[in-house]
Amino acid sequence: MANLQTPNIQTTAEREAALLASFAMHSADSRGRTHPEPEHPYRGPFQRDRDRIVHSSAFRRLSGKMQVFTGEMGDYHRTRLTHTHEVASIARTIGRALRLNEDLIEALALFHDIGHPPFGHAGEDALDECLRWEGGFSHNRYALTIAEELESRYPAFPGLNLSLEVLEGQATRAEKSAAYAAAGLAPLLEVQVVEAADSMTYDAHDTDDAVKLGLVTLSELAEHGLVREALALVRRQYADLPDDPLRKAVVHQLIDRQVGDVLAHASRVLAEAGSATAEEIRKLPLRIGPSSELAEQKRELERFLYDQVYRHPRLIAQRVQAQGRLKKMFAGYQTRPELAPPRFRQRAKAVGLPRAIGDYLAGMTDRYCDQQYAQHFAS
Ligand code: MG
Repeated sequence: MANLQTPNIQTTAEREAALLASFAMHSADSRGRTHPEPEHPYRGPFQRDRDRIVHSSAFRRLSGKMQVFTGEMGDYHRTRLTHTHEVASIARTIGRALRLNEDLIEALALFHDIGHPPFGHAGEDALDECLRWEGGFSHNRYALTIAEELESRYPAFPGLNLSLEVLEGQATRAEKSAAYAAAGLAPLLEVQVVEAADSMTYDAHDTDDAVKLGLVTLSELAEHGLVREALALVRRQYADLPDDPLRKAVVHQLIDRQVGDVLAHASRVLAEAGSATAEEIRKLPLRIGPSSELAEQKRELERFLYDQVYRHPRLIAQRVQAQGRLKKMFAGYQTRPELAPPRFRQRAKAVGLPRAIGDYLAGMTDRYCDQQYAQHFAS
């Protein structure tokens, strides 16, 4: 490696000391990795995590996994990959404004949905049912399996060997914060920012996609506070917008309103933090998230989206079909394990056949899952 100790190369520690708040997670305080590695000459540990995630095959497969709507419904709406990029973009905006560690935020955001199986939550529920005697299936836990066991890119260790802060942040999602709450510890602020950004992202883009696909109308959505306010703001600025630009302007407002609210709320909350460090602030009852008014409006919108969009007859029909296929494949691969790739048959020796088959199925894209079904199990 070239010697980079020149006056023109700023180290990550120097840059972070100059830019970040005391309560940000500074790279220099990272607890490191499961398999110790020397520091990189010009990339900080969380930058390396981000790069490892982006170069992983599980990350690339997110482009073939649905968010809410399947590929058969068109190509306007979000996939799991574009959702992930929107979350990362919004989370970085919030993190930078609060002087948190943007590299860690980006790594956490790009990683947060990497464990989603094919066919979204329908797929997750089916796998959970298939594996109920084996401890069930959760996409949040499966993300950790990918990062620690399934990815193989490096000769020196299995998995991606991510920093413990990234793994712990994901574990918070998997355990719904229960373990941390019991220990009196909040997740790192960077983890809280990604959580908040995830929620504001899907509220905005599911509204956009659902209207674009014609499952609901903007006027139906405007019966609820958050969309009503956004629509009123847009109409004040542009009296007569046609449907398409109107929908886009409303979605823009939905994001702006939520980011503005979370930032205003967070800056008030963090003003009480003084010069606390990242570790100290975890012991304080401070949370980054929406104000109570916005939280109520979001709940209202999410109830509407759940009833009218996620449970729309067109989506229910796809859900039933996808779940039937996955269950048939789960049983079929166990009867004929020779149809699964050798590395999963090998894995069965360590984790048992049902879990190994579950891990194989969960890694599939929607299209690959359909292809394998048609090839081996359709008749
Ligand atoms: Mg998400």
